[in-house]
Amino acid sequence: MNNRIKNLNSLPLKAGKCVIYVMSRDQRVHDNHALLRAQQIALENKLPLVAAFNLLSKSGDRAREHYQFMIAGLRHVESDLRAHDIEFTLFFEDHAVGLLEQLNKLQPAAIVFDFSPLKGPINIKNYIADNADCSVEEVDTHNIIPIWIASEHEEFAAHTFRRKVHLKLINWLEEPPKLLKHSIAIKPSLRPDWDRAAKIVQKIDTNGTTINYEAGSEAALAHLKEFIKTRLAGYAGDRNNPNIDGLSGLSPYLHYGQISSLRVALELTHNHTPLLFREPRLAKYEGQPTLGDSIDALLEELIVRKELADNYCYYNSNYKKLAGAKDWAKKTLAEHEHDDREYLYSLKELENLNTHDGAWNAAQSQLAKTGKMHGYMRMYWAKKILEWSPSPELAVEHANYLNDHYSIDGGDPNGYVGVLWSIAGLHDRAWFSRPVFGKIRYMNYNGLKNRFDVEEYIKKWLD
Ligand SMILES: Cc1cc2nc3c(=O)[nH]c(=O)nc-3n(C[C@H](O)[C@H](O)[C@H](O)COP(=O)(O)OP(=O)(O)OC[C@H]3O[C@@H](n4cnc5c(N)ncnc54)[C@H](O)[C@@H]3O)c2cc1C
Repeated sequence: MNNRIKNLNSLPLKAGKCVIYVMSRDQRVHDNHALLRAQQIALENKLPLVAAFNLLSKSGDRAREHYQFMIAGLRHVESDLRAHDIEFTLFFEDHAVGLLEQLNKLQPAAIVFDFSPLKGPINIKNYIADNADCSVEEVDTHNIIPIWIASEHEEFAAHTFRRKVHLKLINWLEEPPKLLKHSIAIKPSLRPDWDRAAKIVQKIDTNGTTINYEAGSEAALAHLKEFIKTRLAGYAGDRNNPNIDGLSGLSPYLHYGQISSLRVALELTHNHTPLLFREPRLAKYEGQPTLGDSIDALLEELIVRKELADNYCYYNSNYKKLAGAKDWAKKTLAEHEHDDREYLYSLKELENLNTHDGAWNAAQSQLAKTGKMHGYMRMYWAKKILEWSPSPELAVEHANYLNDHYSIDGGDPNGYVGVLWSIAGLHDRAWFSRPVFGKIRYMNYNGLKNRFDVEEYIKKWLD
């Protein structure tokens, strides 16, 4: 537990009236090491514990539907906390200065944050740590191996990171302690202002998607259990077929922290020792993949790929731009920037499904209707945006906008890395050169046809 904690300032505990956990990325009560740490400090000092969530009036390109899903999850957080006699409140501060004022009103002895590698939350935390007059800590409860332990620098590729993960993982696959009932109450009691939250949400642009996920930790765990029972065995064989519901569908829950990836990994490894030695994406299965193959393949995505995305954003602040790509990739894309493009599409044309490519339009339509595109199509989708944009910089910008605005799991390191992986070869290697793409790995329509029935996919999402 201790290595999950980072001191953000060097101040000691103050003689205050409570301990505050500022919940942000990990919107759950169980398996939340940041909340557990805040409770530990509070109990040791016989203080009340407050969990607070700061609702921004705008969060990048996120849409109303994303806020609604999040708020529904936070309402469950409130009732789960009340069951442990822990206070929950909402703040509505767009700037760190205002947030610090709100925190100070509660006279905290210590403040605990959860971890995010993204710039917005980092700036807020740094401001609070520099200006608060009490101890401020951050706890990584989003990654199974805390970011600063997994690697001390930006990793070059999945294979360099996988080795480190494999060596360290065994020490981190531990059942977290249980949250205790917190018998020390704060007076007067706090109540989140849900009406004010609802008014903020109403002002955010809608994207028109219909989210078919029930929000909250209980729903997330039920979803995981149902997946394990009915679809996990087929994961390795089915996951690259967008016509089959073969993926876990866990990303909305993982993104909002309604379930921890540690909980998912513990459920998966219950009766299974992960291999993690090989590159499961390249695995050649003899006959049908086994249940063990599927578990290994999912752990690769859930741990190696997901935590590699956090590693990249943590150590490279250019994660939303082409500037964040490796030199070889920037060079090859620059050499091909003026190549003739057969098709050029504006953001509006992309958004309105006005391309000549039925598979791409179907993928964007799946995203716009359900708030989630099949994982295999995401690569194709982003690579085509590169092919049809006047510059790779603009391609990265458009792909990030569409992903963040429509995708329920958007606004996430996985998305920023997925976009740079597809468009700018991040964590990938150079391939043979071709127009527009240079040495960036290419994908085409015929490649899709070799994998699955593209016509069926188009019919499903464009009819
Ligand atoms: C262009 C592009 C954009 C993407 N945008 C996002 C995004 O906004 N949010 C997001 O969570 N993922 C994103 N991904 C990664 C991946 O496609 C999704 O995580 C996956 O499709 C989510 O569906 P699932 O939970 O059913 O996946 P599963 O295959 O069941 O995977 C389980 C979990 O493992 C993690 N995971 C799976 N694939 C990856 C990957 N390639 N990189 C990092 N972690 C992975 C996710 O947390 C996922 O929920 C993107 C990939 C690309 C190529």
